[in-house]
This record gives sequence, structure tokens and C-alpha cells, in this order.
Amino acid sequence: MSVLWEPPLNKEAKRWVDIARELNRDHFVPLAAEIDREQRYPWESVEKLAESGLTGLLVPREYGGSGASLATGVAVMSELSRACASTGAIYAAYSLGSGPVIGFGTEEQKQFYLSEVVAGRAVSFALTERGAGSDPAAIASTGTPEGDGWRLRGEKIFIGNGGASKHYVAFVVTDPEQGPRGISAFMTSLDDPGTAVTKYADRLGLRGARTSNLELDTYVPADRLVGERGRGLRIALSTLNTGRVIIAAQGLGVATAAFEHAATEATRRRTFGRPVIDNQGISFRLADVATRLSAARMLTWEAAHAGADSPRTRALASMAKLYASEVAKEAVDLAVRVFGGDGYCKPNPAERLYRDQRILEIYEGTSEILRLSLSRAISDAAGSGLLEPLEPVATAYGHRAFA
Ligand SMILES: Cc1cc2nc3c(=O)[nH]c(=O)nc-3n(C[C@H](O)[C@H](O)[C@H](O)COP(=O)(O)OP(=O)(O)OC[C@H]3O[C@@H](n4cnc5c(N)ncnc54)[C@H](O)[C@@H]3O)c2cc1C
Repeated sequence: MSVLWEPPLNKEAKRWVDIARELNRDHFVPLAAEIDREQRYPWESVEKLAESGLTGLLVPREYGGSGASLATGVAVMSELSRACASTGAIYAAYSLGSGPVIGFGTEEQKQFYLSEVVAGRAVSFALTERGAGSDPAAIASTGTPEGDGWRLRGEKIFIGNGGASKHYVAFVVTDPEQGPRGISAFMTSLDDPGTAVTKYADRLGLRGARTSNLELDTYVPADRLVGERGRGLRIALSTLNTGRVIIAAQGLGVATAAFEHAATEATRRRTFGRPVIDNQGISFRLADVATRLSAARMLTWEAAHAGADSPRTRALASMAKLYASEVAKEAVDLAVRVFGGDGYCKPNPAERLYRDQRILEIYEGTSEILRLSLSRAISDAAGSGLLEPLEPVATAYGHRAFA
């Protein structure tokens, strides 16, 4: 039995996890160091993900997918990221990009784009701009009426799977006078003249995945609008709510791999005539990581089961991503330390995990932004009396004035 807490997977989830494990063993583990070293997008891995049905895992059955639960998605994502965080990132981009279509698309949009996703042709989520990352309400790209459709103009940056994806859901300002309620979401594709990827980021980690810009000066017909006009920010934030649970799962995968490397090496490696794990300085840190990793797994599991978008699910998703990414940092730091000089050098997997972990605290909501949104949730709950203590507060000089 593992010392780590294991989620109680049902039969269907176990079957998908077994598929992921088989792919890990045969394809993703052997490729992980190579795609990192060469910063090469693994098209052959995407083919494997599509052939096995994993790209359509979360797509509803009526659109050709498997209609699996978010909890199953978490189990699969964690397993893939345990083998290769870049492959995990590619997989996460599939779910993030298809989220707006699944949640808010028209029947025709679902029929077309979701069958593309199932076939392995991803949709990317294009929200971030130079002046709008943590603050998506500040986006400057525009959508203006033109003929029977819209002209989209602007530049998106840091687009996961950019260039590898054919389709993009782009968030632009259609009604500037409405502020955050003036943002709308549109589908565009690299086949549309004026929609182009022109730059790729040279990254610290996740070097097998891709991150690009997306330049827009393109006409799209009216039926490319996703959801209602002016609801784009709501669509983006609701999609990110699920996305954060998936990124928490990526953190679990990275943390698990790092913990397994650290525990195995600490038991195998001998210094001063005994295994390194016999020193409490190391073994107590392993005990702490095992405890926190188990807690992060439980929290992510709970967040995956929380259900429809609500203040509670938003808080759980934020907590899961915040905590799992910080546990991953602790685990990779320990793995590097346990390997000593080797941990600092390629091709040691701890060195790669250390670089791959850094993104977890940045994308789909930085740790600061997650703490900010949790602080607001706490303030709202306390303001509505939901955190009222059982014991009335007696004060030295009678009632305090709160005005
Ligand atoms: C590899 C990678 C993949 C990505 N994939 C995608 C994608 O697929 N689609 C997409 O749209 N975007 C994507 N992003 C963008 C990512 O979501 C943003 O980089 C992230 O949200 C942070 O935004 P920013 O880079 O503009 O930083 P900023 O928002 O400028 O923040 C800079 C720093 O200030 C802190 N900060 C900002 N505001 C506050 C505040 N109010 N209180 C406290 N601290 C604050 C932040 O936490 C951060 O530390 C990706 C980024 C990377 C690197």
C-alpha cells in the first residue's frame, strides 16, 4: 500500500487511469527528457492521446466524447503529469480551450468544435494580453460589427498549445462602455485570414509544450460568438474555475513524481555508511511532503466533486490549485536536495521537475490572485454573518462601534 492517500476511483476512472499509465510507460516517460531538451512539441504524443480517447475524455457523449467526470479528468491529468509535465500541459490546454464551447456554445458550435477536440485538434483559450493577465477585465483586443459578422483585432499572448491548436476562443471587447460586461467570446481558427501565430515563447519549463501569441485582424461571421454578447468575462472565469482543478491535478502529478524520486533515492543512496533516509533532516521532510501531498490530493478530489459554478466551488478550486502547486514546489525542492549535485544537473528528472513546477504558481491564476480571491470570499462570508463565532465577544468597555 502506498503511504500516500489514494482517491477511491470508480471502475470507469480506473480504466482511464490504466490507459494513461500504459501510455506513460510506452510513450510519455521515454520521451519526457528528449522533448524537454529539444523544446519539441510531441505530435506523436498528441496522436496517442487522441487514439486512446483521452482528448475527448471530458467531452459529452453526444458530441463523440466519453462524458467522464471532472474527478476522472483529475485522476488522468495527475497520472500524465507524473510522467511528463509537458504532456500534462498539452492535455490541460485541451480541456481549457473546450470549456467555453461545452459550457456556453451553440449546438452547431458543439457539434463542430468538440468533434475536432475528440479527433485531437485542440481549441486554445486566448484570454491573456500584454496588459491583461491577472486582470482580464483590462483586455484591449476589440470586436467591432462588420457586415454580418465581427472584426476581431488585437494580440493575445501566452496561449497554451498555440500554433499546435487550429481553433481559438478569443476574448475581446465588443461594448467598451459596459466595462467588464462588454467582453465577448468568439471562435476563430488559423484558417481565417488575419488570425495568425507569429511568436513562440522560449520557456524555463514545460519545454515540450507550446506557448505562443495570437495575432488577430480577422473577420468572423456572427455564428462564431460563444454565449451571449457581453458575457465573455463570465465565460472565461467559469472555465478557469474548472481549469484550476485540472492544474491542481498537474501539481499533484509533479509532486508525486518528485516525492517518488526523493524517497527512492534517499533509501538507495548511502553517505556516512547508511542510507540518506536514516537522517531525520531528510526523513522528516519526506514525512511532511507525504502528508501535504495526501492533503492536496484530498482537497483536489473534493474540488473535482464540488459541482456547478458557485462561490463554494470557486473557493475549493482556488484552494486546490494554490495548495497543490505549493506542495509540488516543496516536493521538487526536496527531490533536488536528496539527489545532491546530480539533482542540479541534466538529465536528472528532479532538475526537469524543478523547472516544470514553476509555472504551476503562475498560470490560470497566480498564487497571489488565488489568495486575493479567497480573501474576498472570506470577507464576503464574514460580512454576511456566515463566519459568526459561537461565543459572543465580551469587551472591556462594552460594545465597540463598527461605523
Ligand atoms: C506557459 C504558460 C501558459 C499559459 N497559458 C495560457 C493560456 O492558455 N491562455 C491564456 O489566456 N493565458 C495563458 N497564460 C497566461 C497566464 O495565465 C498569465 O501569465 C498569468 O495569469 C499572470 O498574468 P501576467 O503574466 O500578465 O502577470 P501579471 O498579472 O502582470 O502579474 C505580475 C505579478 O504581480 C502579481 N499581482 C498582480 N496583481 C496582483 C494583485 N492585485 N495582488 C497581488 N499580486 C498581484 C501576480 O501574482 C504576479 O506575481 C499562460 C502563461 C504561461 C507562462
